[in-house]
Amino acid sequence: MPIAPQAAAYRADPKIETIRDRLSDPVAAADFPQAILRFRNRRWDGAVGLDSLSDEQWIAHFGRFEPLPGNLPQPLALRYHGHQFRHYNPDIGDGRGFLFAQLRDGEGRLLDLGTKGSGQTPYSRFGDGRLTLKGGVREILATEMLEALGVETSKTFSLIETGEALQRNDEPSPTRSSVLVRLSHGHIRIGSFQRLATLGEADTMRDLMGYTLTNLYGETPGNAPAGQLLDLVCRRTAALAASYMAAGFVHGVLNSDNINVTGESFDYGPWRFNPTWNPGFTAAYFDQQGLYAFGRQAQAIHWDVVELARSLRTVAEAEELAPALDGWPGHYERDVAAAICGRLGVAPRGEEADLALLQAMDSALQRSQVGIDRFFFDWRGGARRAASPADALYDGEDFAGFRAAIADYRGQASLDHDYWRDPEPCSMLIDEVEAIWSAIDEHDDWGPLHAKVDAIRRMGEAMRL
Ligand code: AMP
Ligand code: MG
Repeated sequence: MPIAPQAAAYRADPKIETIRDRLSDPVAAADFPQAILRFRNRRWDGAVGLDSLSDEQWIAHFGRFEPLPGNLPQPLALRYHGHQFRHYNPDIGDGRGFLFAQLRDGEGRLLDLGTKGSGQTPYSRFGDGRLTLKGGVREILATEMLEALGVETSKTFSLIETGEALQRNDEPSPTRSSVLVRLSHGHIRIGSFQRLATLGEADTMRDLMGYTLTNLYGETPGNAPAGQLLDLVCRRTAALAASYMAAGFVHGVLNSDNINVTGESFDYGPWRFNPTWNPGFTAAYFDQQGLYAFGRQAQAIHWDVVELARSLRTVAEAEELAPALDGWPGHYERDVAAAICGRLGVAPRGEEADLALLQAMDSALQRSQVGIDRFFFDWRGGARRAASPADALYDGEDFAGFRAAIADYRGQASLDHDYWRDPEPCSMLIDEVEAIWSAIDEHDDWGPLHAKVDAIRRMGEAMRL
């Protein structure tokens, strides 16, 4: 289960200072013509002690980027490379974002406040350094839904509209602009290590390993830190891939620069939730080969982790790295069974039985094409509950194997919450995303967005009981 927010006092801890010279460049935020607060994360602002900021103070920090007390004096554009659709690109890095601040949450974790759309940096290449307002709204919806469904994800902390007119190929243009702040468990990516490997910067890689183990994993680096780190990354990224499946989520761009070494999901572009269990479903229109399709996400994330291992060869022998890497498929298999049992709200029964349940579910959902959210809603607790439009399907041949498999499972989720008596499950399919955006775009009506965030959080509450 992902960590829930716990109230805490503001505690600045800019640990990046120790390594920033070799890993980042100081930059300045763009001077935006407007700053209109559109979303402030009231679920998480208290977890990092920022709930007492007035809206004016909030805008000063997260729209104009006045430093937070005791924090980074200047934002840092992080340097990284990465494989994009399997092609190595050494020309990327924070091109429209930066690391703004670091602080502790109520759990004592070191979290980052990083931006998207805050202006150009040395890594902007041909880009304007901006984020569309629609892109920002979509990132709110993705992060809220994923958090509620139990995926370890960055949080959308703030969204401020900035009053510019942007040109984009994938949106009717000109389109409105925004700057987003994300709260995340680190911003060190697989691509951060790839860059150091490419440049042959072994000492810096050792320092970055130490930084990651100590500050992000809370571990003491031992005498084989590369193997130690790789093992942790393998565990967390396998859990991430598993949680995407149980959520029915397609990230869309699982490039190695979009994979956080803490295994936290982040950077939401062309994401979609899969309406039905369709392994070939892709989110990004430019992913013509289906490289990052729903059913290929585990493979894709594993591929990125292999690239991390390759990079770590700069500082370690293959023998130190191999055991961790070999563990990945096993971790994934266990985690995906656990994640599916978790969403069904049933107690796991051991590897073999859980795998059989998973396979029965996979074939029932593929054959019937019943909605993913509908299915998990109806079967929550391991037995079919309320009258559902899918009842006829559940009684039929498609579900025979699943009915037999689930019969041996014991429910372990509470169904006390009102949510479970709703006629429809809470979903986040593309038509609704577009409808929420249209209300903003056409009538500047933010009601549907805020109502949806409330509905998602209510579902999250029901899921956690
Ligand atoms: P992404 O696909 O969002 O992970 O971005 C890949 C790379 O392109 C990163 O280096 C981004 O910083 C950069 N990038 C994406 N959009 C823009 C933009 N509008 N302006 C500048 N850089 C961008
Ligand atoms: Mg990215």
